[in-house]
Amino acid sequence: MLIVDLHSHSRASDGLLSPADVARRAAVNGVDILALTDHDETNGLPHARAEAERAGLRFIDGVEISIEWGGLQVHIVGLDFDVGNAALNAGLETIRSGRVTRARRMSAELEKAGIPGCFEGAMRYAENPNLIGRSHFARYLVEIGVCRDVRSVFESYLVPGKPGYVTHQWATLAESVGWILGAGGVAAIAHPGRYKFSRLEMRNLLDDFKGLGGQAIEVISGSHSQEHLIQFSRLAREYGFLASCGSDFHGPEESHVNVGGNAPLPADLTPVWTAFR
Ligand code: AMP
Ligand code: MN
Ligand code: MN
Ligand code: MN
Repeated sequence: MLIVDLHSHSRASDGLLSPADVARRAAVNGVDILALTDHDETNGLPHARAEAERAGLRFIDGVEISIEWGGLQVHIVGLDFDVGNAALNAGLETIRSGRVTRARRMSAELEKAGIPGCFEGAMRYAENPNLIGRSHFARYLVEIGVCRDVRSVFESYLVPGKPGYVTHQWATLAESVGWILGAGGVAAIAHPGRYKFSRLEMRNLLDDFKGLGGQAIEVISGSHSQEHLIQFSRLAREYGFLASCGSDFHGPEESHVNVGGNAPLPADLTPVWTAFR
C-alpha cells in the first residue's frame, strides 16, 4: 500500500518546518509520494524536491490557493503543474500582495478588542512576510498568553464573527482553476469538510468547480472526520472526481496528523496521482 500525502505546509507559508525538513520528515515516515502545498507560494518547492529526491521519494509540486466562493474562504489545491508558468505565478503574486494589507486590518481590529501590536508580533512568526496569515497571528496570541494554543485562538479570534477577522478579496474559483489547468496541473478542492456550507451550497461549489474543469476533491484530510470521509467519497463517485488525500501538516507542535499520517483512500476511488504526468 502506497503512503501518499498530497497536502503539507512549510515555513514558505504558515508551516513550522523548512521545505527540506518537511521532505526529510516525510521520508522518515515512509511516504512514497509527497506534495508540498504552501498557501499561495511556490518558492519552497525546489528545496523540498531536492531533499525528497535525495531520500528516494516521489515529489509532486503543489500549491494551496486562497479563494473566495459563496462569501467564504475556500482553498483549491493545485498539483503537478509547471512551476515556471507565468500566469500562475502572476496570479499567486497578486494574492500574496493582498496579505500584508489584510494583516494590518486584522491588527487594527485586534487593537480595538484591546490587543495592540499584533501586526509586528505576527510578522516575527512569518519567515515569508508576504505570506503573513492567521496562523502567524494565532502563534503570537499564544505567545502573549491570550490563548493557551493555536486551536483555541481559532475558536475565539480570527474567524467570522470574532475579533481579528476581516473580510478579504481573494482570487476567484475561476481564476484559481484556470491558473492550475493553464500550468498543466490538476485542481482539487481542499478539505471540503471544513467549509460551513449547506449541502446545497456544497453541491453548487462542486458544480461550479467541475464546470470550470476542476478534476479532484480531497476525500481524506487531516481535518476530516469519518463522516466527512463517507460524505465526500460519495460525492467523488457521483461527480466522477479523482480522489486526493493529505495530512494538511503544518508542524509537529500544531498538527495532530503527521506528514504521511493521513489515512489511505477508499479502494474504489480513482486516486488523483493516476492523472500526474
Ligand atoms: P489565512 O490563509 O491567513 O486565512 O490562514 C488560514 C490558515 O489558518 C489555515 O491554512 C490554517 O493553517 C489556519 N487555520 C484556520 N482555521 C484553523 C483552526 N480552526 N485551527 C487551526 N488552524 C486554523
Ligand atoms: Mn495553513
Ligand atoms: Mn487549507
Ligand atoms: Mn493546507
